[in-house]
Amino acid sequence: MYDIQRVRDDFPILSRQVYNRPLVYLDNGATTQKPRCVVEAMVDEYYNVNANVHRGVHFLSQQATDLHEASREKVRTFINARSVNEIIFTRGTTESINLLAFSFGEAMVKEGDEVIVSAMEHHSNIVPWQMMCQRRGAQLKVIPMTDEGTLRVDALDELITDRTRIVCCTHVSNVLGTVNPVKDIIAKAHACGVPVLIDGAQSTPHFAVDVQNLDCDFFAFSGHKVYGPTGIGVLYGKEQWLDKLPPYQGGGEMIKNVSFERTTFNVLPYKFEAGTPDYVASHALATAIDYVSSLGMDNIYRHEQELTSYAVSRMREIDGMRIFGHCGGTVQPLNDASPDSSATAAVATAAATHDAVISFLVGDIHHLDMGTLLDRLGIAVRTGHHCAEPLMRRLGIEGTVRASFGLYNTKEEVDILVEGIKRVSKMF
Ligand code: PLP
Repeated sequence: MYDIQRVRDDFPILSRQVYNRPLVYLDNGATTQKPRCVVEAMVDEYYNVNANVHRGVHFLSQQATDLHEASREKVRTFINARSVNEIIFTRGTTESINLLAFSFGEAMVKEGDEVIVSAMEHHSNIVPWQMMCQRRGAQLKVIPMTDEGTLRVDALDELITDRTRIVCCTHVSNVLGTVNPVKDIIAKAHACGVPVLIDGAQSTPHFAVDVQNLDCDFFAFSGHKVYGPTGIGVLYGKEQWLDKLPPYQGGGEMIKNVSFERTTFNVLPYKFEAGTPDYVASHALATAIDYVSSLGMDNIYRHEQELTSYAVSRMREIDGMRIFGHCGGTVQPLNDASPDSSATAAVATAAATHDAVISFLVGDIHHLDMGTLLDRLGIAVRTGHHCAEPLMRRLGIEGTVRASFGLYNTKEEVDILVEGIKRVSKMF
């Protein structure tokens, strides 16, 4: 059973007050709070183990190296990669995508080639590709979206040409919560021999991801959105792809031999990890993975789906409420996950489902006013364009208020949000 009170007790910050009110933290899409075990893992490593990894013969260095490499193995199992050689530690999703866009562009993209992204990407899955396209003389193309916030996957049949080099798509929209049918997208791209990057920043916190099952070629996510620390993220890449790509940055760790005439590069994954890695953060990320795994990703998924359904139905009570995406307010029905098939399988097969994110506007109240006044009631939501300006333009708006749920949020908090929105609405 999912004991929400016990879960909440693991997160000290949740019991603090803001403006003399209990904190209602609904900004999990931006970053998640950290369970005690994650913070303790970092403190413990700094107090008892700290030493630079990989190049020390002494005890502490070897212990730190063991912890760091055990974390890589933990990440491998978390996303079910085939080998630890496919797990590259980065600073986060943004750096993972920049790494890939640079290396992939250098090796694979020529003038006149094409890169496809979707209409609902975060800036970090647009700008690195745009910069690379400008460097290489390539063109950026866009998978369109319906008014309801569903990607027009059928459009790929026309968009993919013999000049298409890669398709880049988010697993879950950080604005709309749409869970994209990435398996279909990957299958379509592969049928034309085109590799696919999936931005998993908003999927890994909410349901189990299996990169082998998805068959994606690359997958990126951030530690801080999965209850881990800031400053650590992951780029997964199939070994056969990573082998073909040149390094991103030069420096220590990523080399085999260096002379002034020539440098030879290290094996995977170190070829892509120049400099001292954040070995304390990698260990803490592994601790966060242990934490969410002990709760069970399927249990987290069910809990958050129930919460999102409840929130959508309660928010629809409010006069003037406009919820973006969410195709008429339905989220993935819970009973779609039969006892024999995991909730994750239900997500993978659904054409378009919705995750723990609700973007909304009420009447003509500006998103910033709504967010600021909710904050005064102790409710932390995000406002603005959510680093997705092209999506805002597509929706014909400047920004939204976004409530995003985590594994520790409760129906009582949804009620406080709904009452808060009603109260703010009355003021206008
Ligand atoms: N992609 C998506 C879908 C996101 O929601 C975010 C962050 O909000 C990112 C990428 C960037 O993540 P980070 O800032 O951790 O690199």
